[in-house]
Amino acid sequence: QSLTDDVDSGAATMALPQSDERRWSDTSAYARKKILQSWIQLPNGNWELGKILTSSGEESVISLPEGKVLKVISETLVPANPDILDGVDDLMQLSYLNEPSVLYNLNYRYNQDMIYTKAGPVLVAVNPFKEVPLYGNRYIEAYRKRSNESPHVYAIADTAIREMIRDEVNQSIIISGESGAGKTETAKIAMQYLAALGGGSGIEYEILKTNPILEAFGNAKTLRNDNSSRFGKLIEIHFSESGKISGAQVQTFLLEKGKGHIIYFINFVLGLHLHLEEALDIVHVSKEDQESVFAMLAAVLWLGNVSFTVIDNENHVEPVEDESLSTVAKLIGCDINELKLSLSKRNMRVGKDTIVQKLTLPQAIDARDALAKSVYSCLFDWLVEQINKSLAVGKRRTGRSISILDIYGFESFDKNSFEQFCINYANERLQQHFNRHLFKLEQEEYIQDGIDWTRVDFEDNQDCLSLFEKKPLGLLSLLDEESTFPNGTDLTLANKLKQHLQTNSCFRGDRGKLFTVVHYAGEVTYETTGFLEKNRDLLHLDSIQLLSSCSCHLPQAFASSMLIQSEKPVTGPLYKAGGADSQRLSVATKFKSQLFQLMQRLGNTTPHFIRCIKPNNVQSPGLYEQGLVLQQLRCCGVLEVVRISRSGFPTRMSHQKFARRYGFLLVENIADKDPLSVSVAILHQFNILPEMYQVGYTKLFFRTGQIGVLEDTRNRT
Ligand code: ATP
Ligand code: MG
Repeated sequence: QSLTDDVDSGAATMALPQSDERRWSDTSAYARKKILQSWIQLPNGNWELGKILTSSGEESVISLPEGKVLKVISETLVPANPDILDGVDDLMQLSYLNEPSVLYNLNYRYNQDMIYTKAGPVLVAVNPFKEVPLYGNRYIEAYRKRSNESPHVYAIADTAIREMIRDEVNQSIIISGESGAGKTETAKIAMQYLAALGGGSGIEYEILKTNPILEAFGNAKTLRNDNSSRFGKLIEIHFSESGKISGAQVQTFLLEKGKGHIIYFINFVLGLHLHLEEALDIVHVSKEDQESVFAMLAAVLWLGNVSFTVIDNENHVEPVEDESLSTVAKLIGCDINELKLSLSKRNMRVGKDTIVQKLTLPQAIDARDALAKSVYSCLFDWLVEQINKSLAVGKRRTGRSISILDIYGFESFDKNSFEQFCINYANERLQQHFNRHLFKLEQEEYIQDGIDWTRVDFEDNQDCLSLFEKKPLGLLSLLDEESTFPNGTDLTLANKLKQHLQTNSCFRGDRGKLFTVVHYAGEVTYETTGFLEKNRDLLHLDSIQLLSSCSCHLPQAFASSMLIQSEKPVTGPLYKAGGADSQRLSVATKFKSQLFQLMQRLGNTTPHFIRCIKPNNVQSPGLYEQGLVLQQLRCCGVLEVVRISRSGFPTRMSHQKFARRYGFLLVENIADKDPLSVSVAILHQFNILPEMYQVGYTKLFFRTGQIGVLEDTRNRT
């Protein structure tokens, strides 16, 4: 919150290069806030750079670029960095680390197609919404040789490979950002680099081909992104001991099954037929299976056209026997009468008996759409399974892995439903992972090494996570409980949440079906409409029966996988609403357990974070909206990271390594002394100021930029 404050601690000693235009001859004067230019916030919220003409304590007179001169209250001005720091490639190098300076720096680079910027350990990627000349073999080669050191996804991927080999620890690249910010593109760019460096066996082509397949089946055009991923994805790429790719495994999370999406996917997929066939060939889906895949897609599409007609005076309906119905039957390989039955009647189990209920129009439409959704999501899962079979790592799983996580970022719309609820819960967990990694571990390291370190408070979102996860009185438990009640409705759910959670500081009950959660990234108001139905995600036994009666093998496989899902011994609550449907795990519970598995996996890796930023909402190149960018920088913790890293001692090296690396530069020959004595002698010889470093039990800790002079001397020697 204090980011608009000047948090600069190193400005006084920061060496500012001299330039003719601006002589920063007295850098300490700069630090004492004899600032020449400054940021002023305009009524529209944007920041503009002004020159300070006079300053008399309380009031200042400044001139704006277009010649306007303003008298303002000095306190409202925010110090700007000297021009010489324009466009630095790590925000940590900024002397003044306030919000407008960070915004300006990213904008400055963006205007020159430098879309990547470091924020300490985090890579910030601003979506260019156009092709930028930063990729391909020439660039890959340059990053591999480290002849290009500007921030890049390639550099992150390179570090991941090196650290995997050096430390023998699995790595992860965690990519987050809003819809349309560029996560999926970034993941592909990272994969490209890994494939180029770890390639050779040929399996890298298969891995790259998983992208078009999953995109074809799991992406949709939305308002925010023409090619929006409607699922989260973790791809774990395995390497042999020699650093070559040996296989991969894909896991997907929470595929959104909205009806509009499905229709879109399928039209899209059918349009891509030729393209996709090649990709399916590469991941070894047989021609026969490919035909079945396309038949299933067509069936889902035709199902949408099946219409109904009233057959009695109680408003019961049955499907019209037209081309749509007969085509669906033909495509999935079932008897047309069986199909008709499954769309007009429902088998209910009452005790040991089965009774048959005729369907009204809304019920029949539900049954039809449920069938389409089941087939669609089974098909998606089946494809992921085929991909995994094809990319499976052999029995020798001795090597290490790099996982790339492309997961939906925090979402907050005018109307937020069950999907946003799950997505934001996942982001809350990932944010904690991020916080813990960057801040807690950092502090622990200082403390462990016994160095003097004033604790830095960082945002912890444990309270919000507890609101979701607490048993029995947390959001997820209460949702599951209400989902098991046959008479539960979206309104009773909302009332239940309000009744039990009203006193929680991260929760606020609103009128009707609305409730608000205070997330780390801001408040989100959810509407419970559809929560119970989406959470139950009932399987209709009739659908399973129909599919298992089909002569084609894919629908049969789907039916058995649905049965397995429903019969698995489970630990969470089971749903059996109305007695008509198969029991199974709630969507929220399944999602939570997937998320826990994911966190466990990530917990065993060294993480590398990439934050994607969308500079405008209209997918247009060259347009940089300050307010939008700022809000995203806040949401993903970039501003916090910069602030905290810079106020600490981010560069570390063990005494041994330091002595080994720079010991030979010593004038005095004390090479036989212990590493700590050698290290201290080096620090003295190079005049590294005491406030610029700390000596820990095992390591030396430095403020940013201190090792530079040693490295330079070393390289020259
Ligand atoms: P969603 O959460 O909706 O899946 P996303 O964050 O995955 O969104 P992408 O699909 O990766 O977003 O990116 C959206 C669009 O932005 C891309 O289709 C592409 O046009 C453009 N884009 C993203 N990154 C780049 C890049 N590095 N270079 C060029 N264009 C890019
Ligand atoms: Mg995406």
